Amino acid sequence: MVEGGRRLIAGNWKMHGTATALSEARAVAAAVARRQADGAEPPPRVAICPPATLVHRLAEALAGTGVLVGGQDAHAEPQGACTGDVSAEMLRDAGASLVILGHSERRASYRESDPAVAAKVEGALRAELEPIVCVGETLDEREDGQALAVVGRQLATSLPDALNGRAFALAYEPVWAIGTGRTPTSEQIAEVHAAIRTALTGRFGAHGQTIPILYGGSVKAANAREILALPDVDGALVGGASLRATDFLPIVEAGWA
Ligand code: PEP
Repeated sequence: MVEGGRRLIAGNWKMHGTATALSEARAVAAAVARRQADGAEPPPRVAICPPATLVHRLAEALAGTGVLVGGQDAHAEPQGACTGDVSAEMLRDAGASLVILGHSERRASYRESDPAVAAKVEGALRAELEPIVCVGETLDEREDGQALAVVGRQLATSLPDALNGRAFALAYEPVWAIGTGRTPTSEQIAEVHAAIRTALTGRFGAHGQTIPILYGGSVKAANAREILALPDVDGALVGGASLRATDFLPIVEAGWA
């Protein structure tokens, strides 16, 4: 197993996948292992975030391969009377090492506020999960010229001070690009990523320079290389194109430096 570099390519399966999907993850791991065997460059870290029901089976299937398993959300508390919820400790116990938090689908459907996301991030750190914290503007906000202000506010209030010195990733996911096939221009992505880097460095000093900033929103084989070559783009959070190994692997391949 080869240690990954700063690059992170993470698949978000959303509410897709039953046991038959495990073979897709196994195919990803096998191809990553082959690629690592013949490549000298630092490999990207690769993660798959399946529905909670598959975390344990995926962690078992991928054990020792270097492909990481993540959750898609976690309750802020370790346990309690919270029917239907899953805690960060439970994900960790099931074999996850990362967790997506503050995804725009959860912010929109479950009215997750920035402080609620910050509390979940603290819960993830408590359980020693690496949070992937999502931020991003809606189409109305972008058309209103508010993209940088919205992302700046989300960063200021979704990231707790407890992140200082801890491993985490940030994902810039413009809401209007998720699952739509639309992507921002390279200039738009680079502008927001540069602003995120400045905010992270302002907040966390030298540690802020090391935090991977992922882009997410309709990443696919055809655009991954161009997006991943942009300054301050350290990886990708991939939804639809992560469900099948044949779609995901070219994106992973583009993540090799
Ligand atoms: C996502 O859900 O985080 C995402 C980026 O989805 P998609 O790649 O399908 O746009």
